[in-house]
Amino acid sequence: MHNPDDDVVPASAIDFDLIKKRGGNNLGEEDYDVVKCGQCKQIYLIECEVFTVLLDPADLSKRDNTPNEGFHCISCNWSFPFLEAWIGPKGPASMRVTWKELAESPWRWIAPQLNKT
Ligand SMILES: [Zn+2]
Repeated sequence: MHNPDDDVVPASAIDFDLIKKRGGNNLGEEDYDVVKCGQCKQIYLIECEVFTVLLDPADLSKRDNTPNEGFHCISCNWSFPFLEAWIGPKGPASMRVTWKELAESPWRWIAPQLNKT
């Protein structure tokens, strides 16, 4: 049976305004999405317009601003795909974040749907 918890979180489920309010601004055309490490499953918020990786859900000033020069997971040092897609149909399935994974991560606040009382 289909379990909706296993569906991939679409970028449309992410509250861009809330992220900006918490200091996640980049250069004004923010386009956020989530990815996870293909090895240890740690989740990262990425900003696709300028291509930035936001590392810490509690402090959005902690970033890697040059992930296109090569990005390694801060937990397990796994090499993210270099000069290849991380997200979308061309990105690896192993890097897609499901609802269950987001709900269980410290990033859950970015999706209002998970935080209804
Ligand atoms: Zn990792």
